[in-house]
Amino acid sequence: MKWTEKYKKAITFSYDDGITQDIRLVELMNKYGIKCTFNINSEKMGMPSTLDREGNTLSFYRLTAYDVKKVYEGHEIASHTLLHKRLTEMTDEGVIEAVEKDRLTLSELVGYEVVGFAYPCGGVNHDDRVAGIIKEHTGVKYARTNKKTDSMQLQHDLYKFLPNVSHVMQGDRLDVLTERLINYNGDEPQILYIYGHSFELDFDNKYWAKLEEYFKFISGRKDIFFGTNKEVLL
Ligand SMILES: [Zn+2]
Repeated sequence: MKWTEKYKKAITFSYDDGITQDIRLVELMNKYGIKCTFNINSEKMGMPSTLDREGNTLSFYRLTAYDVKKVYEGHEIASHTLLHKRLTEMTDEGVIEAVEKDRLTLSELVGYEVVGFAYPCGGVNHDDRVAGIIKEHTGVKYARTNKKTDSMQLQHDLYKFLPNVSHVMQGDRLDVLTERLINYNGDEPQILYIYGHSFELDFDNKYWAKLEEYFKFISGRKDIFFGTNKEVLL
């Protein structure tokens, strides 16, 4: 049964890169009945990575294949390309390989067909050509961009899906949109789509506390459907 038959409101989460901080995040999500989609680079599983942010270099580790299968049980695994390279700079064949090979490897690993996708890299990480290739030549059924929208209406172009807000890093934007969803009384279904990277929560311990507070605040609301991306979008 599609969620819109019973609900007018849904909240879904999307976290990228398949990193060890996700273990703590999934425990929190499970505690509060929150559902999430995790976007994985299959050829980077088990590898260390670094990230430059605000003048600091952060180190983090990607979960191994064994852990990916176990840690995310009850949530959705989606593709994030094989190696986290920018698709707009690749040939058509390169895009197909980076997406479809990743999707098939992950499908085999988790034992169900992976149909979700999140574009890797910040800045301009997608365009019409890349979205068209993914739609025509891969088994991906929805692809999340990094361009935010204020609208929580159902979206028609699922290959350039726009999220609403990056979890706890954006001041009060999350609270404002959540309040709007909670107070919504209309007939059109609304989706609040929240995304992020769990290593960002390590920047400051207050972020972990803030996110748990948020989960506590939204959880158990009878008029909100909590589903993975594919359950909510497809
Ligand atoms: Zn990423």
